[in-house]
Amino acid sequence: MKTPPPTTAPERGKRRAPSLVLLLTGDGKGKTTAAMGTVVRALARGWKVCVVQFVKSGKWHSGEVKVLSSLGAHWHTMGDGFTWDSPDLDNSAELARSAWEFARAAICSGEYNVVLLDEVTYPINWGWIEEDDVVACLAGRPETVNVILTGRAAAESLIAAADTVSEVRKVKHAYDAGIRAAKGIDF
Ligand code: ATP
Ligand code: MG
Repeated sequence: MKTPPPTTAPERGKRRAPSLVLLLTGDGKGKTTAAMGTVVRALARGWKVCVVQFVKSGKWHSGEVKVLSSLGAHWHTMGDGFTWDSPDLDNSAELARSAWEFARAAICSGEYNVVLLDEVTYPINWGWIEEDDVVACLAGRPETVNVILTGRAAAESLIAAADTVSEVRKVKHAYDAGIRAAKGIDF
């Protein structure tokens, strides 16, 4: 850095928003971990947090469920409360829609300070959840509810709806060198 930092407080003249919409997208590693890091900050302030994960939990139980649930975060994974026998897409679409209805209710309730919609861009991009519904829900949310969305290839309308958008770009990923996902690092 060639120039010294400004001497006036950078926050001066800035307003405080009652809540924000954050979007973490891109093809690099770090979207969900950044979202979970923000959840840690929220929990540290005594805030109420709801995490909705739009992927089938499968056999991996991520470390964050364990830690953040024990700190008080409410957790809902796509498929919770439902059973399925076959991996057919209609069923997955139905599960995604149910998870979205759960998430929408969590946002609208005004009960939470943070609602995290993890991997929500995928069911939106696959047409399982109406993009317009999500955008309308964000716009009409109670003003105290912060919402965090993650997932690759976020639609333009989501980018427009968010206050802060970060794109995590893949420079390298171990997976491409044939290295599998690692416990404690990836989940
Ligand atoms: P993380 O959960 O580690 O923050 P992420 O949310 O940014 O990752 P996702 O697309 O949700 O990324 O992928 C989740 C899993 O896939 C993680 O195990 C992550 O390490 C891995 N992953 C992320 N980006 C890539 C990539 N570009 N190539 C291969 N695997 C990836
Ligand atoms: Mg992720």
